[in-house]
Amino acid sequence: MSALLLRRARLGAAVRDVLVDTGRVRAVADDLSAGAPGLPELPAGTEVVDLDGGTLLPGLTDAHVHLDQWAAVRRRIDVSAARSAAEAAALVVHGLGGVPPEPGALVLGQGFRDALWARPPDAAALDAVLPGVPVVLASGDMHTAWLSSTAAELLGFDAPTGVVREHAAMEVFARAGGVPDDVLDGWVLEAASAAAARGVTAVVDLEYGDLVTTWARRAALRPGGPALRVRAGVWVDRLEETIAAGLRSGDPLPGIGDPVAADRVRLGPLKVFVDGSLGTRTAFCSHAYPGATHPEAHGLLRTPLPELERLLRRAGAAGLDLAVHAIGDRATAVALDGFAAAGCTGRIEHAQQVHPDDLPRFAELGVVASVQPRHAVDDRDAADQHWAGATGWAFPYRALVEAGAGLVLGSDAPVAPLDPWDGIASAVHRSLDERAAWHPEQHLDLDVALAAASGGRRAVRVGDVADLVVVAEPPAAVLARDGVRGLRATEVQGTLVAGRWTHRSGPLG
Ligand SMILES: [Zn+2]
Repeated sequence: MSALLLRRARLGAAVRDVLVDTGRVRAVADDLSAGAPGLPELPAGTEVVDLDGGTLLPGLTDAHVHLDQWAAVRRRIDVSAARSAAEAAALVVHGLGGVPPEPGALVLGQGFRDALWARPPDAAALDAVLPGVPVVLASGDMHTAWLSSTAAELLGFDAPTGVVREHAAMEVFARAGGVPDDVLDGWVLEAASAAAARGVTAVVDLEYGDLVTTWARRAALRPGGPALRVRAGVWVDRLEETIAAGLRSGDPLPGIGDPVAADRVRLGPLKVFVDGSLGTRTAFCSHAYPGATHPEAHGLLRTPLPELERLLRRAGAAGLDLAVHAIGDRATAVALDGFAAAGCTGRIEHAQQVHPDDLPRFAELGVVASVQPRHAVDDRDAADQHWAGATGWAFPYRALVEAGAGLVLGSDAPVAPLDPWDGIASAVHRSLDERAAWHPEQHLDLDVALAAASGGRRAVRVGDVADLVVVAEPPAAVLARDGVRGLRATEVQGTLVAGRWTHRSGPLG
């Protein structure tokens, strides 16, 4: 692979040349066209690209995605605007565009948020407008599946109300998403390229399933593999086989022959669920959900502390990184207790509600908060209702940073779009509409949000892995001129993974 000289790259206030070779940033200087000290001449065959003042930033990481579902959701009927079950059903009809679905073919929709609906969704609402059609709708948070009677029958689910939650919902999605592997692989690689076009150089894929096999297969489909680095997560039901295979987090997946693809596709963390979600009212909280009378009025504790401790010990000792899903304040406390008891560290995925007493424990234990700022703006109304009186410590990004916690950003795609600029913009300004920012005291400054979206990297430095992104203008200038809307729409001109282009457009195209 030849070296790459990026001329006239804006790095902070300066415009400089950047030399990339063998996957790393080798030199940064005012003018590298004639080489650099210790580098008498440019390596033979160096590609020279003039960025013409384009801004060079560290590559962006999405620390939490479900890539299969995102790749499929990009193709589903969007029902996120529905304010009732009837509206959601009408959106499905509209989405079909008057074309009757092929007999027996599943109709898939995505994104309903029923937390504020006057009446819960049920099969009858779908059956009424699409009799005999198998319809499966996924909630925006992917913790609830809503099925028509025909879909429940077809997929073999006993769901009298048409609504199933949590593990059963994930089973429904797994069965309903059943397209042939080769089709889904193509969709996923396409979604990865679309993410690269937004400046993403790495994702942590926490899809449910055998990701080791899946990603080893996908890595072979294209020279160089997917257009970004993938850390393939492991769910608890595959922990033992992963350990038995001798795989540690960061290892290349077995059987990938292409060295570029092998470098990109590696084993990620173990994922453990402590609780459910806010939208499904299964996040495990110190306060009861208003009006809840069922036994889980405080949410659902999916993994109690002793079992969590056992899993973390077992996986940690085997060299696996640890990602613990916790949304409610009690769940977050259990996750922190689990890390403390097991004597290891890792990430808490979501940390949507953190009791003030628990804030300093992140830094004390070295636990990183892996957060999805778009959720804060999408779920503000649901939080105001279901976490009434406790929203002061909901999505507490600034409080976490001030308490010394490491923070990384993600989308949780398909829950939110796989676009880091959307997350950065949502962290900087906690409103999606004309309303004032929600708990603005918890916003992040732009430089903090950018660093959190870049795996903690704040600048491009010599010696760094050459995972880089070129944007048309400095993000701060975009924000100052066009506000948060402009920041969300940031123009990405180029993306590099280990010094190889994964995206080029506009003046670099
Ligand atoms: Zn997730």
